Amino acid sequence: MSEIKKNINSIKEKLNLHTSKVEEKIRMVAVSKGQDQSKIREAFDSGQYIFGENYLQEAINKQEALTDLSIEWHFIGPIQSNKCKLIAESFSWVQSIDRIKVANKLNDSLKNHASLNICLQVNISNEDSKSGVKINEIDSLAKYINDSDKLILRGLMAIPSNTSDEEILRNEYKQLKVIYEDLKKNYSSVDTLSMGMSNDYLLAIENGANLVRIGSKIFGKRT
Ligand SMILES: *Cc1c(COP(=O)(O)O)cnc(C)c1O
Repeated sequence: MSEIKKNINSIKEKLNLHTSKVEEKIRMVAVSKGQDQSKIREAFDSGQYIFGENYLQEAINKQEALTDLSIEWHFIGPIQSNKCKLIAESFSWVQSIDRIKVANKLNDSLKNHASLNICLQVNISNEDSKSGVKINEIDSLAKYINDSDKLILRGLMAIPSNTSDEEILRNEYKQLKVIYEDLKKNYSSVDTLSMGMSNDYLLAIENGANLVRIGSKIFGKRT
């Protein structure tokens, strides 16, 4: 068995174990930034069909080489507003929306295209230097997206503080979970809480994540 397949199986086993306890399916995005398209193909052949990319041009090059695979592509990187049209046309999910300007441009560029699934990226550590919408601005951004005809509000995404202190991480996850449950009450399309990466995905699902984003634990080091 290939290394990638082994990694995917071992992560899925842990996710399934958790799923059986909470009776909610946990989905996984394989984050393939900095990885060769041959590795994406290998992961796809191992049963993985959701992939996440951070850099538009890199993503498009890979997508062109992989058109024979029915992959669900998620954009998870910072968004420049002049790239919105291409992003909207190349992905079925965008998890990194943090401002109305970008939401507006994505919606406008989708006229003849299918709808786009959206997660708001939340600045959960509340540091000015971090990307993501501030907690007190979530409501207005969520409403704007919900009112846009081509955008489907699916939930929240967050990158927690860069720390291995589990207490800090757990607090941030719990805070997000509360915000997520509130959002779910207001918008019936909301069903996704995207948090947890290679080093903290178990902690994230224990605190309510139902979508994890895993790169290096599947593919190894990035180039
Ligand atoms: C790179 C990245 C990941 C994956 O990180 P790993 O630590 O390699 O699992 C997840 N989410 C986002 C937003 C990323 O940029």
